[in-house]
Amino acid sequence: MRLQGKTALITGGAAGIGRETAALFAQEGARVIIADYNKQQGEEAVQALLQKGADAHFIEVDVSDSGSVNKMAAEALARYGAVDVLINNAGITQDRTLAKMTEEEWHRVIQVNLNGVFYCTKALIHSMIERGSGKIISTASIVGVHGNIGQTNYAATKAGIIGMTKTWAKELGPKGIQANAVAPGFVETGMVANMPEKVIQQMLEKIPLRRLGQPIDVANAYLFLASPESDYVNGTVLEVNGGLVI
Ligand code: NAD
Repeated sequence: MRLQGKTALITGGAAGIGRETAALFAQEGARVIIADYNKQQGEEAVQALLQKGADAHFIEVDVSDSGSVNKMAAEALARYGAVDVLINNAGITQDRTLAKMTEEEWHRVIQVNLNGVFYCTKALIHSMIERGSGKIISTASIVGVHGNIGQTNYAATKAGIIGMTKTWAKELGPKGIQANAVAPGFVETGMVANMPEKVIQQMLEKIPLRRLGQPIDVANAYLFLASPESDYVNGTVLEVNGGLVI
């Protein structure tokens, strides 16, 4: 029960890595808020946790809209008094090579993946500063470190998350707040479900552990960064990729 007494808010918690993280955190004793724009899946995920006796709550939010994010933060704070752990996990891809990428595709991915992380963290930072504690954990990607063909927009957002994380570690560390990031490799969720089999086979040859990541692999990394065991870890980017270098 490493998160006993803690409240964790997980954006994008209705599916994939976020959903697995919500389940793991609940198992470790956390009060879990799933914040997602997919109301149906988010409510289903919460129901599943409630049935297991967890304290879980769903908040509908579009992280790309600062007004919606501010409402989410107000609801979370009104209900639980504090958010101890913020998991900035919501994210999307809209892949296309630079020559074909439209401005709309560029802006949409920046708006969700990068501005969304800024909005969510900003909305909760005042209460963390007031309490002198908090853990901000954001989802970067191997693509933000090494780039990837067809992912100009996505790579920019994930590199941006690493930059924000390192900045917040410096700015907020003296106030008792930690900021860290997780950089997954390729994880079997809806996000990679549409990748052609050939591409997946090529990827597997490059992954020393010879398998794609599972949502639980990333959830375990989030758990470490959310738990007291990581109390001296600040400004780090934890790679969870089976040893893959792309
Ligand atoms: P997923 O598509 O399975 O889940 C993403 C969740 O985010 C969904 O529940 C979706 O409804 C929610 N979401 C999307 N846009 C939103 C918005 N505007 N407001 C609120 N919620 C929104 O994806 P996943 O693979 O679980 O990805 C989770 C995170 O991990 C993302 O940030 C992604 O970039 C990152 N990541 C994934 C992989 C991978 O291989 N799957 C690799 C590296 C990083």
